[in-house]
Amino acid sequence: MTKFLSSVEEKSLIEAIGKAEDRTSGEIRVHLETKCSGEAYQRAIEIFYELKMNETKDQNGVLIYVSTEDHKLAIIGDHGINAVVPEGFWNETLQLMKMHFSAGQFCAGLVLAIEHAGEKLSNFFPYQNDDTDELSNEISFGR
Ligand code: CA
Ligand code: CA
Repeated sequence: MTKFLSSVEEKSLIEAIGKAEDRTSGEIRVHLETKCSGEAYQRAIEIFYELKMNETKDQNGVLIYVSTEDHKLAIIGDHGINAVVPEGFWNETLQLMKMHFSAGQFCAGLVLAIEHAGEKLSNFFPYQNDDTDELSNEISFGR
């Protein structure tokens, strides 16, 4: 597998997640794996539970899922988010990411998606003084 992101790019993603989480109590994670045989959305739900992202206090974890060879993308949020945001809340963020992916700008697309997601989340889940980093900002890698 050719490397999808350089280590510098990986660092910039982790940094972007940290910055986004300085503004919101929501927890953002990125999961990358080579291929997705089915629907990206369904796969993202599986990963969400595998990573125990459903265990945050306010149920406000967000997963950005990417299969790096077939370029399937999904963004999903936990129940706490779905309960308060309008339908199609992630569509815009997803489109933004897709646009960059089709131009071959994978890292930029992911960074923008993280920033965008953080900004949107901050409206519903502002940063709390007692906020902790409930889910690691490290990128999670599948096969
Ligand atoms: Ca947090
Ligand atoms: Ca985090």
